[in-house]
Amino acid sequence: MSRGRLVLVGTPIGNLDDLAPRAVAALAAADAVVCEDTRRTGRLLSHIGVRAPVLIVMNDHTESEVIAGILARLGRGECVAVVSDAGMPGISDPGERLVAAAVAADHGVEVVPGPSAAITALVGSGLPAGRFVFEGFLPRRGSGRSARLRELAGERRTAVLYEAPHRIGRTLADLLEVCGPDRVVVLGRELTKLHEEFWRGTLAEAQQHWSDHEPRGEFVIVLDGAPPPAEIDDDRILAALVEARARGASTRDAVDDVSEHLGVARRRVYALATGDGRGA
Ligand code: SAM
Repeated sequence: MSRGRLVLVGTPIGNLDDLAPRAVAALAAADAVVCEDTRRTGRLLSHIGVRAPVLIVMNDHTESEVIAGILARLGRGECVAVVSDAGMPGISDPGERLVAAAVAADHGVEVVPGPSAAITALVGSGLPAGRFVFEGFLPRRGSGRSARLRELAGERRTAVLYEAPHRIGRTLADLLEVCGPDRVVVLGRELTKLHEEFWRGTLAEAQQHWSDHEPRGEFVIVLDGAPPPAEIDDDRILAALVEARARGASTRDAVDDVSEHLGVARRRVYALATGDGRGA
């Protein structure tokens, strides 16, 4: 079996001038191009004057099925390029499973990087970009959605989320509920396109603004990290211990309760409860 090459190629998220020369070269050299939509990728290829080679459709539903055929091509030593409709393949787009399969079969994997809406929004947001989390799309409903929202409420790093325009209102309302009205949010809209906008404000302001203005176009939500938790001083711990004891809790139970409730080390609460010194 020969060793094939799988080349992940980033494509523009709006502005065709963002297509890199290396991306053009990679698409022109490929024996086959894996894409989400043949019409869309066909337009891109004709824009750059590349005659369409074999196009293989791969989307979230077909990814597992088409992988075997792509591995067979790689096994014949072919070069297979992978693009998505926009941005980087594998980022809230198909590609991840194919790359894992190619790596497992010991084929070469290369990346021709291009724009990604998440990074474009993050760097333009003005929020801390040194450490951040990418959340992609939140689950639409159910316990999966509430669990992810709760995680975001306590997340200290900047969070980047994708959302469809008709769901922006709902997601801002849910974020407001778990993170509170004052958390800063930046909405990157129509990035790299004619009507590019960075909207900045608090979650309360965002919810008001985007219920007054119908959200149109593509959006990335960049959410500031949670503020550090307030320092808990000894007096607050002692007061909580007195309260727990007054409710009839044993010293041991009171220590456990207070430690869990205030998120303070048990050792510190125990030392205060037994008078072994304040702030131990
Ligand atoms: N793979 C893509 C990437 O690397 O950015 C993301 C694909 S995901 C299916 C599509 C989502 O990305 C949209 O719903 C939107 O949240 C975001 N997005 C894509 N293009 C955008 C743009 N030009 N401006 C703002 N958001 C964009």
